[in-house]
Amino acid sequence: MDYIINHKRFKKKYSFNELDKYLWSEKRISKFPHSIPHYFDFFNGYAKKNYTLIPTKCLCDNNDDILLSKSDRHCVEFPTVVCKKCGLIRSKNYFTDENINDFYKNYFRNVVCETVDEHKVHEDPEYMYNDQKEESIKRFKIIEKFGNKILSKKKVLDLGGGIGGILEHFKNENEVYLADYFDPYLNYAKSKGINIIKGGLDKIDFKPDIIIMSHVIEHWSNFKEEMKKLIQIQKIGETINYIEFPGIDSLKLGRREGDVIGDLLVPHVYFFTSYVFENIMNRYGFEKLYIDSEIKSLFIYTGKKSNLINNYPKVLKDLILAERRRKIHCVQNFIKLFIPYNLLSIIRKIRNKKINY
Ligand SMILES: [Zn+2]
Repeated sequence: MDYIINHKRFKKKYSFNELDKYLWSEKRISKFPHSIPHYFDFFNGYAKKNYTLIPTKCLCDNNDDILLSKSDRHCVEFPTVVCKKCGLIRSKNYFTDENINDFYKNYFRNVVCETVDEHKVHEDPEYMYNDQKEESIKRFKIIEKFGNKILSKKKVLDLGGGIGGILEHFKNENEVYLADYFDPYLNYAKSKGINIIKGGLDKIDFKPDIIIMSHVIEHWSNFKEEMKKLIQIQKIGETINYIEFPGIDSLKLGRREGDVIGDLLVPHVYFFTSYVFENIMNRYGFEKLYIDSEIKSLFIYTGKKSNLINNYPKVLKDLILAERRRKIHCVQNFIKLFIPYNLLSIIRKIRNKKINY
């Protein structure tokens, strides 16, 4: 099978012996892939022995893919493809439901979250909660501004919300619910006055006014089933769905230094651009209220379904632009190696000021 971008970095398979070369370092010219030995060990050891991979099919039901990358951002062999009939990027193969349950129940927090935060903040619920609360102010504002709802006396559900810190912004005026699987977080949320539900969509037996799904949908391995359940709990034309995940179309703007490999991660089944995602939601009968390329989005269910749009040419263009951006970052990173540290920190300060204003 061909690769959408014909460059050897997308075709590479990594062995345990070369992981040292890919450890994280500010001095690396290209930041991805970034090896994490315990993550690599889990997927090449336990998962390889105990899990089964099954070929996946695109959500548009066509069967016309081109390869994007052979490995994920942490050097694990994990082929991803782009559908030429719609532009959706997805993992070529995925684990069985049973494997996925085992993974999220027993390994996810240790294998993945520890790669994100080396300080094991996930073992400190109070820190996590406050961190999520702070991080969520912008989400709350989007819901408030574009949702056209008076945020009082509403039922607000945070689905897969971890510890539920975002609900802190809603809880004084509204009835708030957190649905997730991890007991220590659920218990902490409960101590904060949040109603807790252990499980996912199938455990929701009411119709919320606001549903928050932040970094959830890209993990759905049974997308169609989950979508059906999501539709069942909608108040038609009323429920606001806040959906967020990293959008592939923001790479070209410099996110992850333009490197799409930085977004590829085994626990993710789908890698959406904002416009491919919007079309998927439209095909299921959701209407967009707001979306940006990062992606933070608001959708409302109307039941009116749109047709498939083939966004493949647009995705291809965005991937090429991202790749161009990545090369610029590589050159910049190379030059940085020769600039004295003090000067570099001054440049960073100036640049941060620019970003802030
Ligand atoms: Zn497709």
